[in-house]
Amino acid sequence: MPRSQRLGNRPKNGPDTQVPNRSGFLTFTPMTKTSLRDIPSADLIGRRLLVRADLNVPMEDGRITDDTRVRETLPTLRLLKARGARTVVISHLGRPKGPDPALSLRGVADLLCDSMGGTVRFHPGLVGPEARAAVDALDDGAVLVLENTRFDAGETKNAPELARALADLADVFVNDAFGAAHRAHASTTGVAAEVRRRGGKAVAGLLLYKELEVLGSLLREPERPFVAILGGVKVSGKVEVIRALLPRVDRLLVGGAMANTFLRALGLELGQSLVEEDKVKLGRRILRDAGDRLVLPVDCLVAKRIEDGAAVRVVPRDSVQPDDCIGDIGSASRELFSGLLNDARTVFWNGPMGVFEMAAFQEGTIAVARAVAVETDRGALTVVGGGDSAAALNVAGVADKVTHVSTGGGASLEFLAGEQLPGVAALSDR
Ligand code: ADP
Ligand code: MG
Repeated sequence: MPRSQRLGNRPKNGPDTQVPNRSGFLTFTPMTKTSLRDIPSADLIGRRLLVRADLNVPMEDGRITDDTRVRETLPTLRLLKARGARTVVISHLGRPKGPDPALSLRGVADLLCDSMGGTVRFHPGLVGPEARAAVDALDDGAVLVLENTRFDAGETKNAPELARALADLADVFVNDAFGAAHRAHASTTGVAAEVRRRGGKAVAGLLLYKELEVLGSLLREPERPFVAILGGVKVSGKVEVIRALLPRVDRLLVGGAMANTFLRALGLELGQSLVEEDKVKLGRRILRDAGDRLVLPVDCLVAKRIEDGAAVRVVPRDSVQPDDCIGDIGSASRELFSGLLNDARTVFWNGPMGVFEMAAFQEGTIAVARAVAVETDRGALTVVGGGDSAAALNVAGVADKVTHVSTGGGASLEFLAGEQLPGVAALSDR
């Protein structure tokens, strides 16, 4: 029987800590870090629980285009509410350089409020006397969302002052932000260390714990063939991650702007396409070591400009013109990638194959999403990571046809590459 049937309707977003693996359900193996479940209920009533959530949802013109991350953190928030904790939620949203009304968390707090039965409040500040007063005014079971952590310059610098000010708001710190666990910021590692220094606990939330379990199963004993697909545009660090991932997988398919660095390493003309020039040398070395395990697109969908309604052409990868811009993988690459996914037993996918937000450039991403869904139906364990990749699953209409949608793109990649996630390392040991 295919695994997807064996597993039945598992509670995808539920607080249940059951994780699918090759033998069906597997309950959590003990982790070395403390989780929210380790704290007795009696120790939560009336206590201030500072929850670092990942509310970094994709936005377009001030609208939330995908609410996956908000939904996924609900089990933790609902558990705390039910236990009578005083919950304070912090998160970053986007990449503001300072206070920026367009990136306020107010809209996300409104969405969260709807999801929690109208009981969530928002305070337009992060630390300081007013935030402190808002937290002190909380009733048992209440939930308060504070403003975007990145409005404070200390966040990305992991400034000790900000970590201390955040720790002032917490009796217990809960990290539920898997999507930010690969960053050592004040709201992830700094505050955790400070809360522990003061004798408090810093624990993993239900979502963070679930993510570590599912992704951990890909590292422990993946059923083979294990195929990884990488794409997208986020370049910083991804090339290095590819190198670390290669020995763990049977095939690594690379598309999106990510592939351009490697195509350039092959000496190809890429016109106006996005290329990470300072990684080309590294790309060349990786290609040499990887052999046929690393698979690149053989053709590209190009346009003179990446815009809605652009006139597009499919060209072999060695025929991109100087005024062309690559917006997606081509039709031959779609077939190549789908074929290589055929009969995979374990699949990990992060990053769209093209600019899937525009209809003209979404075929490659949709083809990969559908191929992953087919393998899920055939019983493969399929994991998709990354905010845009999760949104792409929705565009392709197969969001419920993968085993697990991870809320972390960069974090899941670094975890699979075998790196320590600072946000996890900073939590209290068991
Ligand atoms: P995720 O959020 O799933 O981790 P990324 O953020 O790394 O993925 O990448 C998603 C973005 O990559 C999308 O906005 C998409 O438009 C962009 N992208 C994919 N391929 C290309 C390309 N060839 N040129 C420019 N942008 C691309
Ligand atoms: Mg993204």
